[in-house]
Amino acid sequence: MNTKLRIRRPDDWHLHLRDREMLAAVAPWSAGLGRAIIMPNLVPPVVTGAEAAAYRDRILAALPENVTLRPLMTLYLTEATDPADVLAAHAQGIIAAVKLYPAGATTNSASGVRDFDRVRPVLEAMAGAGIPLCVHGEVTDPAVDIFDREAVFIDRVLEPIRRATPGLRVVMEHVTTADGVAYVRSGDNIGATITTHHLVINRNHILVGGIRPHYYCLPVAKRESHRLALVEAATSGDPRFFTGTDSAPHPDRAKESACGCAGCFTAPNWLQICAHVFEQAGALDRLEGFTSLHGAAFYGLDPNPDHISLVRRDEPARWPERITAGGETVTVFDPGFPVHWHIEDDA
Ligand SMILES: [Zn+2]
Repeated sequence: MNTKLRIRRPDDWHLHLRDREMLAAVAPWSAGLGRAIIMPNLVPPVVTGAEAAAYRDRILAALPENVTLRPLMTLYLTEATDPADVLAAHAQGIIAAVKLYPAGATTNSASGVRDFDRVRPVLEAMAGAGIPLCVHGEVTDPAVDIFDREAVFIDRVLEPIRRATPGLRVVMEHVTTADGVAYVRSGDNIGATITTHHLVINRNHILVGGIRPHYYCLPVAKRESHRLALVEAATSGDPRFFTGTDSAPHPDRAKESACGCAGCFTAPNWLQICAHVFEQAGALDRLEGFTSLHGAAFYGLDPNPDHISLVRRDEPARWPERITAGGETVTVFDPGFPVHWHIEDDA
């Protein structure tokens, strides 16, 4: 059996680093990445190029010295976003993408888009400049069942946007359904990130035998057939699918609550778990594409120049059950099985 795998340094194409004490606590766990697309849903959100530049500086200040991580910033699309500011921030190398949250879809998305016609000029400017649109693909219509919101979003929102804006490059973020996988496979100029936790859990993990708040995330994990479709897509070698952990730390106090918030904190262990999933699927030879090559290619970037190694050992990999952030604790995602892959940095 393959016990050592040398791969290009991985990137993360969907990462939440938060701000202030939480940023200081979680950023070091992502320091070994090559690049990461940083989500802009702070309070208040990162909506202008100047705000993105300031946030990037706060991230760099929170990282140890001589780390490999290069944060790639995004703007939070609002109905008031100025196309000229987006183009200028991209031309100056401040941002790599723009994020679309339907209003109310997830954590801190109250400023998101309600009327998609109002963001048409921004989307057209982005299509012209080749700036990708990262999409949180769920409708927020209360009449739509939460397990159907991704599939309905494709028909009601995503397909009309793409038809109206030819050439717009779209990343369907954290795809969670067989419908999403099929939609991404059917088109051009579209890719998708897949999280590690959606490769591992289905909705039973959240709900059977007692509610498990640390498995609750958005989009919510779906039934097993959808998880299998995600594993198939991730391990298929199709370059349209790539890593986006959506590692999304929240204080335990806010998750273990009568109204617990959405997000899994996977920064400390996502890569080891991914190696396990690919090994189980007999696809270790395709892991590098998923973690280190496909996303860069979609964003028009070269792979990272350096490498890491994943080594399979008899003793399971270890990570803290929880970390501290200011006066809070944050629980690390528990895959529910031992993981034998360990990371060795070749740099
Ligand atoms: Zn996210």
